[in-house]
Amino acid sequence: MNKNGIPCNVIVDLLPLYKEDICSEETKDLVEEHLRSCEDCRQLCEQLTVPQNEKKNVPDEAETFKKVGKKLKSGKLYKQVMIILITAFAAVNVAWLKLKFFPYKDYATDMIEYEKDDGTLYQQFYVDWYYNVDFPNYLDFFSGKLYLWKSANYKENKVKELRIIPRIIGETKYAVTINDERGVYGIPITGSLEFDPSGYKVHDNDEKMKQLINENRDEIEELMNAAHEKWGEYLK
Ligand SMILES: [Zn+2]
Repeated sequence: MNKNGIPCNVIVDLLPLYKEDICSEETKDLVEEHLRSCEDCRQLCEQLTVPQNEKKNVPDEAETFKKVGKKLKSGKLYKQVMIILITAFAAVNVAWLKLKFFPYKDYATDMIEYEKDDGTLYQQFYVDWYYNVDFPNYLDFFSGKLYLWKSANYKENKVKELRIIPRIIGETKYAVTINDERGVYGIPITGSLEFDPSGYKVHDNDEKMKQLINENRDEIEELMNAAHEKWGEYLK
């Protein structure tokens, strides 16, 4: 309480309004008059903080510089990592394109295209066999192949299907697949149309393989010649 009679507790109540400057001029004058003569209220007024409108999150300058510096440093590393990744990605794609299109592209000229679940098949019927080129799917490096296929009981000995796959890696020149109802046999043969035991790990069936080769020698030879007629340029 001071001499003009306004009790301190009333001034205390008014102080927030006064500080925010939302009171009337009269009130303002009264408060100021009181403060001039009341040390306690004056101190309280000085300590009173005005609530600021939505204090903005202004980033600390030093903090900002630290962050930018870090970003610049990690940006360098990021760039290097990206370059490595992009290079690796490009290398994989080049390798895949090479496998897909060379030599498969050349093998498949003038053939009819069929979309399959596991790739694309190019096929051409000629005389009584089919030329087939299996294009691999994207990034599938190992499913591409070409083969000749002859079907439908062409012989009294019940061979249902004969398939030759030229250009086998290694010593083996061809793989012959014979389906004679008792089973499907995949038989590696040499360029001179002999059973090639080096293309095999298990040799329980060697005699059977030789027998099948001999029984179907003419047809195998026919397909071998057909393969060379069409693809000889690429079959080396
Ligand atoms: Zn006071």
